[in-house]
Parts: sequence; C-alpha cells; structure tokens
Amino acid sequence: MSDRVMIVTGGSRGIGAATARLAGAAGYAVLVNYAANAEAAGAVAAEIRAAGGQAETVRGDVGSEADILGIFEAADRMGRLAVLVNNAGVVDQPSAVADMDLARLERMFRINTIGSFLCAREAVRRMSTARGGEGGVIVNLSSAAAKLGSPGQFVDYASAKGAIDTFTVGLAKEVAAEGVRVCAVRPGIIETDIHASGGQPDRVATMTPDLPMRRPGSAEEVARAILWLASDEASYSTGAILDVSGARAILP
Ligand code: NAP
Repeated sequence: MSDRVMIVTGGSRGIGAATARLAGAAGYAVLVNYAANAEAAGAVAAEIRAAGGQAETVRGDVGSEADILGIFEAADRMGRLAVLVNNAGVVDQPSAVADMDLARLERMFRINTIGSFLCAREAVRRMSTARGGEGGVIVNLSSAAAKLGSPGQFVDYASAKGAIDTFTVGLAKEVAAEGVRVCAVRPGIIETDIHASGGQPDRVATMTPDLPMRRPGSAEEVARAILWLASDEASYSTGAILDVSGARAILP
C-alpha cells in the first residue's frame, strides 16, 4: 500500500501517459486509466515498473459514473489517494454550432466536463480533512480553446473546457480549508493523437508556422507543469490555471 497514489485518467496516451511516466519516476504509485487501449496503458505501467516505480492499469470510461466508481475502487486498493489528474478528454470533427446534434454535445460535456466533476467528487470524498481524509491535489486539464472559443471547429469542446476553468476556481475555494488544492493546466497545441482523433491529422503541422513559438508543445512539457502543481512546491497555489501554451491564447 502506498500513501502517494496518483490517478491519471486517460493515462494510456499523450499528455496522460507523459504525466504517468513522470509521476512514476517521482515516487507516486500511479493508476493508469484508459478507455479502450489496454495495450498502450499496459506499456506505460510496464515502463514505470521497469524503472523501479509502482503502477497499475484500470479500464474505465469517465463518461460513465459506474466506471468512475470502479477507477476509484482500484485506486483504493493501491493505498491513499494523493493526486487526481483529470486528464481524459475528447474532441470531435470540426463543425459549426448550427450543425451539432444533441448526441455530440452530450458526449462532449459528459466526458470532458461531467467526467471531471464526478472524478473530483470521488477524490474530494477521499481527500477532504472534513471527511476524514488527509488532503490532496486535483489537477484538471483545460485548454487554450477555453479562451479562444474555437469558432467553426469545436465550440462545444471549448465550452466544455471553459466549464473546467470555472469548476477549478469554484471547487478550489470550496475545499481550500479542507487540505485539498485544485488547479488546472491550459495547454495550447500539443503534439498528441487527439488531433487525428478529431479528423485533423495534419492540424499541428498546419498550425505550427502561426504559433508564437513556431513549434507545438510536447506532452512532457505539459506533464512537467502538472507534476509541479501536484507537488508540495506548489503548496500555496490553488484555484490556479497555468497556461502551457507557448503564448497561444495569452490575453494582453
Ligand atoms: P489523446 O492523445 O487523444 O489521449 C487521450 C487519452 O484519454 C487516452 O489515454 C484515451 O484512452 C483517454 N480517453 C479518451 N476518452 C476517454 C474516456 N471516455 N474515459 C477515459 N479515458 C479516455 O489526448 P491528449 O492530447 O493527450 O489530451 C489530454 C488532455 O489534454 C485532454 O483533456 C485534452 O482535451 C487536453 N488538451 C490537449 C491539447 C492538445 O493539443 N493535445 C490541447 C489542450 C488540451 P485510450 O488510449 O484507451 O483511448
């Protein structure tokens, strides 16, 4: 049993996988959640264990409350939950709002927003000193899209992430006196599979010349920010939303 368990939802690929690897190296017992790709999740956990760390995998769709309860039961078997990284997220094909159907909107908000709410609820129930816990940290994944709005592409996704920003501030204040910090990172254009999953495999290459740093970010660059927010180094940071966007969507 570990007293430093970290759950990374969507830990099998992209930013989640990079976060899980850094967390394993930092001494957390990492629970690598995935939705479908058991092989990728298994490879991340195996890499952590090969480096001397502790890691388990658990399948679970954060769009399902029953699956979320299963993820937290798996974490309970590993020890004391110290950190939740609400990382799992999805985009959809580019579309105008006028062409979005209800099923698309429900999926977008169910996975990206409600999933993060329910995971945070389970984490607070375990971490809050007012509920017998010993404190902890929740790090949410927002997006620069929350500020940009993503017109003509995915206003639904941007809005779901905008809700994450508000959720981060509100929950942070709600549990600040209960030993729980709640922060978020707001990544810009990061090189992962998410762009292809939204039907735009060339999105990063196409956008690169227009990015302020003329390059996308890497999953590890976002993961480092997540690990810092989760650590005691960030002990007075709560309700903080850290842009990791290479100056994309930074307002004057
Ligand atoms: P990604 O490469 O597409 O990986 C997504 C991960 O989430 C995978 O591990 C996937 O599991 C998991 N996942 C997807 N749906 C899930 C569900 N319903 N339940 C549980 N797990 C699920 O994504 P990414 O680019 O690393 O993005 C990670 C987070 O950063 C997301 O919240 C995203 O919105 C945010 N973000 C990304 C960027 C970017 O440019 N990449 C920018 C801003 C914000 P499987 O492997 O099993 O499919």
